[in-house]
Amino acid sequence: MIQETLQKEKRNLFTFLTGAGISSESGLPTYRGSDGIWIKGTKYHKPEEFGTFRYFSQNQEEVWQYNLFWKKLIEQATPNQGHFTISKIEQLLNKKFQLITQNVDGLHQKAGSKNIFEIHGNKQTVRCVSGCGNVMPIPLEIKSKELTEDLTEKDLELLHCQNCGDWLRPNTLWFDESYNEKLYFLNSALKSAKNTGILFVIGTSGATTLPQMLTETVLQYGGYVIEINTEENSYFFERFSRTKKYILIKKKASDALMNIKEIIEEYK
Ligand SMILES: [Zn+2]
Repeated sequence: MIQETLQKEKRNLFTFLTGAGISSESGLPTYRGSDGIWIKGTKYHKPEEFGTFRYFSQNQEEVWQYNLFWKKLIEQATPNQGHFTISKIEQLLNKKFQLITQNVDGLHQKAGSKNIFEIHGNKQTVRCVSGCGNVMPIPLEIKSKELTEDLTEKDLELLHCQNCGDWLRPNTLWFDESYNEKLYFLNSALKSAKNTGILFVIGTSGATTLPQMLTETVLQYGGYVIEINTEENSYFFERFSRTKKYILIKKKASDALMNIKEIIEEYK
């Protein structure tokens, strides 16, 4: 299958779709796991209610406190073997490679990946709520926080837009927002799905709509979908396990990726 795709003239892209599962080996909590729940005072928040624009627009300081705690987790996290192997595969395949990630932790970039669509944004960047200006890195002077640490006056000042004075917000897609091209590369990701020979799905349960659309598009245009998952528990397995062009590899992500890299090296 890999050999066949390498020899194809068209629809020969090797696309990798990754989710939180690939970063859990780096010690980052998965968003939907029990440690993804945010506790503030006596209030428990589930991601679905806390991770919304609606919640942010009423509790900006609290949401920023949580995000600056995440900033610390992300700064401390290092890419693992899975991230590094994907980066090596990109070097082998060059223009025939596309990475699409649901992760907002920037670990793929830390591992050296370049051609990447972050379809849920990136927690290390911010933008103005009113939409003026571009996406930019979190201001350098803002320090990461402990979970219980409050924002300082200086933090508050830096977390407002220098242009219009409105709040800055994390540049990530919240549960009550929609995908788009400008911020989240929606059309680019769908276009690469159409040109994909093999889509590798790693560390995602497929709970959100774009990953579902991407797999459907790949299959519709004649590509293969290879899911790497030690369990038979994802949306993709449910939906496609009877489809001939869907294959489940029941291995740890880092091991399976290493095998894939070796096969590509052999046939390239
Ligand atoms: Zn502004």
